[in-house]
Amino acid sequence: MDNQLKIQIQQSIRCPACGSVFLKIICGQDERTSHWGRLECGDCGRWVKWLPKPKPQPDLKRCEFIGGLLQSGKLTSWERSFLGSIRDKPGLSQKQLRVFERISKKITGSVYQDTS
Ligand SMILES: [Zn+2]
Repeated sequence: MDNQLKIQIQQSIRCPACGSVFLKIICGQDERTSHWGRLECGDCGRWVKWLPKPKPQPDLKRCEFIGGLLQSGKLTSWERSFLGSIRDKPGLSQKQLRVFERISKKITGSVYQDTS
């Protein structure tokens, strides 16, 4: 769990029972329901709210790389629209990844390593 998220949640929400701002995030194996996680009061143990699964962030390195490809001026219009459509996606399908690799190889001569 990202610490920044924890602090953000703790500062904006209080326990409805005792007013405590010390709230705990229960998730993963500790959360036994089908929910991703819950917010629980660290003082009185009261359930405060369900937590949704955090949204995956787009891969910034890939965004930048695609930006470079788009500026190269060597793309077909289909390739431009394809790259535009995957630019801000957090995760790519195997098929999208293969097309992306093919385009990046054609333009830069090397294959972009997707770390996500
Ligand atoms: Zn409480």
